[in-house]
Amino acid sequence: MIKINENYQKLQASYLFSNIAKRVSAFQQANPDKKLIKLGIGDVTRALPDACVKAFHAAVDEMANDATFHGYGPEQGYDFLREAIAKNDFQARGAQVDADEVFVSDGAKCDSGNFQEIFSTDITVAIPDPVYPVYVDTNVMAGRSGNWNEELGRYENLVYLDGNRENGFIPELPEQQVDLIYLCFPNNPTGSMATREQLKQWVDYARANKSLILYDAAYEAFVQDEDLPRSIYEVEGAREVAIEFRSFSKTAGFTGTRCAYTVVPKSCMAYTEAGEAVSVHSLWNRRHTTKFNSVSYPVQRAAEAVYSSEGQAQIKELIAYYLNNAKYIREKMEALGYECIGGVNSPYIWIDGKTDSWAFFDRLLNEAGVVCTPGAGFGKCGEGYIRISAFNSFENVTEAMERISKIL
Ligand SMILES: *Cc1c(COP(=O)(O)O)cnc(C)c1O
Repeated sequence: MIKINENYQKLQASYLFSNIAKRVSAFQQANPDKKLIKLGIGDVTRALPDACVKAFHAAVDEMANDATFHGYGPEQGYDFLREAIAKNDFQARGAQVDADEVFVSDGAKCDSGNFQEIFSTDITVAIPDPVYPVYVDTNVMAGRSGNWNEELGRYENLVYLDGNRENGFIPELPEQQVDLIYLCFPNNPTGSMATREQLKQWVDYARANKSLILYDAAYEAFVQDEDLPRSIYEVEGAREVAIEFRSFSKTAGFTGTRCAYTVVPKSCMAYTEAGEAVSVHSLWNRRHTTKFNSVSYPVQRAAEAVYSSEGQAQIKELIAYYLNNAKYIREKMEALGYECIGGVNSPYIWIDGKTDSWAFFDRLLNEAGVVCTPGAGFGKCGEGYIRISAFNSFENVTEAMERISKIL
């Protein structure tokens, strides 16, 4: 008899996006003439940078010719891309990362979901609340949680790191010992951004406790403030205890093109039952090369073009465009008397709705025809908040804010 992995039975159905879709379609049926403005989902809306498109086309042409055709590439990614990443994203900012510590992949979602595989199932996992759901669900699937506790609105046996108004949605260190720690800055969904000093506390904690930090920096390109860290490796000691996930998705509009990477420093260690240190780099290399055959050659060439001088200028313009939307949304919401987090150094604005998340969502939908995301969908600590995304055209953003200003 074929048996299932029963951990999957513990998973809570994610009602968030299906529930949003249901309410949106009901609204559209009732108001067929009303134009909806969607500021809900975390997907980019603008085209790929021209430098990437050109490199993409040229690489496709190479594939059309026997003499320049590429079959399987190295599982970890082509050297041209790994080297461009190490040099431009890290070494140029004073962070020590070598090209062979970079693993190219088809997404930070898969990498941040898969990385836990190389660790024991009986470790203690700390997860922020509110959270990008991938971190929670993949640990539930692996059997690191207990059952869902309806009363708590949380899984048993996971350590939740609460975000709230008091800590500005930058979680504090846990009181108990934890082994694997998920952090995401700039944060999705809250738009909060940790300082170097705040990250240093986590790095020090991890070093003292032989823990490991999985640092999701998918929104790194939105950090504009020069004093803020773009990488956890700008923090002293992080090379011993931190893995960093990056993606071209939000940086360069690659959500539909697919290219990302994970940095695994050779100095990161994890331990056997007997306490013997094992290189996390060699474990991940084994896992990655066994289960993954890398990203297509044209996509890696398109990603490489992000680091050309035209590519850099074009992504700066893209990011500035979304950040201008974000600033506009935040200023309008604040002028209406709402407390906001994010919207600077982040494409997300996290708004205290002063009522429950779904009630506020419904009000914006039904009275203004604007779709946002209810904070409660990202965890218990998100209740009372909504997330507005800056990924849309400036015209739509200004119209949305005009409509919202009329009803609030
Ligand atoms: C969008 C996003 C990613 C990027 O995922 P890809 O699979 O690379 O497209 C990773 N982490 C968070 C928190 C995100 O919001």
